[in-house]
Amino acid sequence: MIKNVKFFVNNNLESIEYAKIVKDDFYKNGFNIVDTNRYDLGVAIGGDGSFLRMIRKANFNSKPYYVGINTGHLGFFQEVKVNEHYKLIKEIQEEKYKVVNTIIQKTTVKTKEKEKNFYSLNEIVVRDINLDLLTGKVLVDDDLLEEYAGDGILICTPSGSTAYNLSYHGAIVYPKLEVLQMTSMAAIDNKRYSTIGSPIIIESCQRFNIIPNNKGIKVTVDGINHNFKDVVVVTTTGEEKIKCLKFSHYSFTQKINEKLL
Ligand code: NAD
Repeated sequence: MIKNVKFFVNNNLESIEYAKIVKDDFYKNGFNIVDTNRYDLGVAIGGDGSFLRMIRKANFNSKPYYVGINTGHLGFFQEVKVNEHYKLIKEIQEEKYKVVNTIIQKTTVKTKEKEKNFYSLNEIVVRDINLDLLTGKVLVDDDLLEEYAGDGILICTPSGSTAYNLSYHGAIVYPKLEVLQMTSMAAIDNKRYSTIGSPIIIESCQRFNIIPNNKGIKVTVDGINHNFKDVVVVTTTGEEKIKCLKFSHYSFTQKINEKLL
């Protein structure tokens, strides 16, 4: 049962002011508003960036439910429109809501000296550190898929499929499918380099391994850049899931129609 609610509010005036009203209404309806790490529901007030920040701040904890209230522009993650939080409160009280189990991605960057892990909800992007040509091997598990050459490689979860992936003509993936998708960014296909070019989808329990030839690479995790030198391999796979709370009438098809057209 959802009792303790934690708010993650975007740092702009509209979100801060609206958060006061939402918190007050939750409180009046018998919920505890908490600021600790023990909560049943995390509520992000803002846009998609706020939702991503909430999940990061929560360390991708799979225990609570997460929901977003949109005070941003697009709000693909944000299930609740501004001034509709009362509907959310009602659905929680009546336990009518839907839960969409959403895959998160675990990425390990192994250099000659160290290993670093990252979690992401949308995607990782691997590029040259100076945004020059990226070349290297791409493997699925232990098998060579291709020798890549191009601007970079984007690997996304189903929820990330409607974000950066879409701008590189990747496929939109329905959230219940447990897969990861690799999309090439301006892959080269000529006499010198031969790449597949089209998006490739694997099961989330499989691994994409990228072995770059480049001296330095940039790994962008849900929009945050990390630079590495002497990378041996970047491995990414589907990890656990987080529980995203949606209205009982939630439809991914309607979401695509409403937000992307
Ligand atoms: P941001 O403000 O740069 O976001 C860019 C856009 O991506 C915003 O319109 C945002 O609403 C949208 N977005 C984010 N996640 C989405 C999702 N799952 N489905 C549909 N749209 C989504 O930065 P942000 O809000 O912190 O979001 C970070 C994300 O931005 C990255 O994970 C990446 O997917 C996306 N991005 C997209 C492009 C592009 O399409 N050319 C470029 C850079 C980053």
